[in-house]
Amino acid sequence: MKPVVIPESYNYIGVFLTFACNLKCSYCINRFDTFIPKGHLTGEQWVESLNRIVSRDDLPVTIQGGEPSLHPDFYYIINHIKKELHIDILTNLQFDVDTFIRQVDPARIKRKAPYASIRVSYHPDQMDTKEMVRKVLKLQDAGFSIGIWGVLHPLQKETVLKIQEECKKAGIDFRTKEFLGFFGKELYGTYKYPGAFDQEHLKKCRCRTTELLIGPDGNIYRCHSDVYSGRKPIGSINAPEYQLQDIYRDCDYFGLCNPCDIKIKTNRFQQFGHTSVDIKL
Ligand code: SF4
Ligand code: SF4
Repeated sequence: MKPVVIPESYNYIGVFLTFACNLKCSYCINRFDTFIPKGHLTGEQWVESLNRIVSRDDLPVTIQGGEPSLHPDFYYIINHIKKELHIDILTNLQFDVDTFIRQVDPARIKRKAPYASIRVSYHPDQMDTKEMVRKVLKLQDAGFSIGIWGVLHPLQKETVLKIQEECKKAGIDFRTKEFLGFFGKELYGTYKYPGAFDQEHLKKCRCRTTELLIGPDGNIYRCHSDVYSGRKPIGSINAPEYQLQDIYRDCDYFGLCNPCDIKIKTNRFQQFGHTSVDIKL
């Protein structure tokens, strides 16, 4: 397979191992219920595909989902990704931590970064908070770089902030993320492109991304909206000739963008003001 060199302007490599999840959050920040991809790459296919990526020291491949540990070859994939690629994991931590500790070398999921490499998403309405804290402390004691992220959903904000305080006292890195999108009639989040997800007035535009997003079947998408809607992919990480093109692409779906792509946020250096896509209307 030809190497896939990540452009300097890229800020994220998202590897959606599976869209399956063992929780049913009342709001799911991954809005994938409208699209179920056909097929999943096997562990061997993932390893072969991901190992062609040439990235930078400060740009890991982020293994995510759904819940990535539900991929049957989760540990094989983590343990066979080439050492030159750093690995981050986004998880709801519903896996068995003793198995994780037995199977994974903490040094493999660790790098110099201003945030943890294993990032646990906290969903108070679905998770046993005490159990989550126990598991995080166990992984932390075993040497893993791990932290918790809680979304400040209007209905859960108080709980998240309370648990954040408790976690901080216990020595756990617990950070919060703003809730994105509409709750009732109120729009939450800070966005660069007004109307990008009003879902009513679709416009044509040109759009350039700073993220390599790979779906469970290996297909590569322009943005999160495309991933979750199952729109036509722009390539496949599993196609031997695939080469990444850092270009503006035509899009007919401005108005159906995903808040994740157009919110103003911090980049990988934790500098504020970044958006994942650049749109020309
Ligand atoms: S844990 Fe994440 S992916 Fe799973 S249902 Fe909750 S928000 Fe969705
Ligand atoms: S305009 Fe919106 S939907 Fe179209 S590619 Fe860009 S982020 Fe995705």
